[in-house]
Amino acid sequence: RLLIRQLKHSKLVFPIGSKCLSSQPTTKLFIDGKFVESKSSDWLDIHNPATNEVIARVPMATQEEMLAAVDSCSKAFDSWSQTSILVRQQVFLRYQQLIKDNIKELAKSITIEQGKTLADAEGDVFRGLQVVEHSCSVTSLMLGETLPSITKDMDTYTYRLPLGVCAGIAPFNFPAMIPLWMFPMGMVCGNTYLLKPSERVPGCAMLLAKFLQDAGAPDGTLNIIHGQHDAVNFICDNPSIKAISFVGSNQAGEYIYERGSKNGKRVQSNMGAKNHGVVMPDANKENTLNQLVGAAFGAAGQRCMALSTAILVGEARNWLPELVERTKALRVNAGDQPGADIGPLISPQARDRVCSLIQSGLDEGAKLLLDGRNVKVKGYENGNFVGPTIISNVTPEMKCYTEEIFGPVLVVLEADTLNDAISMVNSNPYGNGTAIFTTNGATARKYTHEVDVGQVGVNVPIPVPLPMFSFTGSRGSFRGDMNFYGKQGIQFYTQIKTVTSQWKAEDATLKSPAVTMPT
Ligand code: NAD
Repeated sequence: RLLIRQLKHSKLVFPIGSKCLSSQPTTKLFIDGKFVESKSSDWLDIHNPATNEVIARVPMATQEEMLAAVDSCSKAFDSWSQTSILVRQQVFLRYQQLIKDNIKELAKSITIEQGKTLADAEGDVFRGLQVVEHSCSVTSLMLGETLPSITKDMDTYTYRLPLGVCAGIAPFNFPAMIPLWMFPMGMVCGNTYLLKPSERVPGCAMLLAKFLQDAGAPDGTLNIIHGQHDAVNFICDNPSIKAISFVGSNQAGEYIYERGSKNGKRVQSNMGAKNHGVVMPDANKENTLNQLVGAAFGAAGQRCMALSTAILVGEARNWLPELVERTKALRVNAGDQPGADIGPLISPQARDRVCSLIQSGLDEGAKLLLDGRNVKVKGYENGNFVGPTIISNVTPEMKCYTEEIFGPVLVVLEADTLNDAISMVNSNPYGNGTAIFTTNGATARKYTHEVDVGQVGVNVPIPVPLPMFSFTGSRGSFRGDMNFYGKQGIQFYTQIKTVTSQWKAEDATLKSPAVTMPT
């Protein structure tokens, strides 16, 4: 509650001259370098997931406001794209320092709106910060190619050039990291950017915009609108927007990929997941069980790379009782409370959905080894808490296996052999992440080569690549051709221009027209 009071009085979370329409602070739009109050008549309440108290309101931006935002991006593109790459680099060098200096402030805003623990919220910011740091290497990353003397006096070279206005549509589960996957990479390449944060957690994005402005990004280079379907459709349809980065559920991501692509835009769509941890009987037991528990229940399971499914191979199935014991030690509490391991889910609807998926497993014959559905958190009785839950005897047809649960629930399957485990993972439609736990190099090698998943960990439970690589989810977890951040991120946000030039000496001038193809 102290945190709520502090944040309500923080200019940064609800920035710039708030003209409240009710007693709650309003989230501003960020248009042409100004934090402006929306004229919308359509607003949503933002709740603290630990208490369900309303802490702020967010507008569904009007068509005029969205048009003003995209116009501002278009105008700013003319000068930003022509600004020296060294100047753009300097903006992001200053930006990374401002994010570092304000990491605790950013984390607080995440915890109050999203619910995750403060320590985990700092991790959310930190992993986004790494992408900003990486974007500062733009002077190397954007280099083109050259091939001299492809014929006499003729050279060919390429430039990587920005696309124009790009847009990002973000989910609720990483309020800092995912917006930071988007606009820094896009902008450092010379694009201008229209961001639509998740309407459930917009506060952190507003802080990020404020720091970007403080870092020297010119007005109009980043604009922020808020909204739901209308805002998403606006982004998919507006002809000035050349590329869309989306992260979120399959339902939204597939729709945005189709609608945006039909309108001729580049779209990259990172979507849902069902990540399997394959536990071999030769694995280091202590390490493996601790890693499984951390990766299944951290952030209350609301991570696209949560290790939400375990496949115990052979004798490893006997480790279940110890897995349950370790999980029981996790503490469920509001994210700002000392010692909290698991915070609340984002909404009462999310909690009800998770509980009904747990029940569906039991109805279909699975076994409940640990039940978090009736957890009570003292002082936070109205929060959206679900305690850590483990369901065993799960089979691939069960709904708790086929659907992404996105809560603190570990479903456990068993396999007799490594081959059986691999075919189980490959039969699942998602391809975001997976991990194998083993002490045998040949087993690990076989798994990494044969498993059809875009990001694989060997004794690493959440193998999210650092930004010098790219985030390479595959199959049902991704649509598009170029992934987020790393070299692929630069490719996504740039187009190539190839120049072929000939500078002949005076005496080599053509004497007559050449009408045949040169051979
Ligand atoms: P979501 O799809 O509900 O929302 C994401 C964004 O899409 C929001 O900005 C929202 O306003 C918009 N949106 C929501 N429903 C829409 C619809 N029907 N049509 C058009 N737009 C819509 O996702 P969420 O609940 O905020 O986030 C959780 C999901 O995101 C999970 O499925 C998770 O796996 C996924 N996720 C994936 C990655 C990844 O990199 N693969 C990372 C984080 C989260």
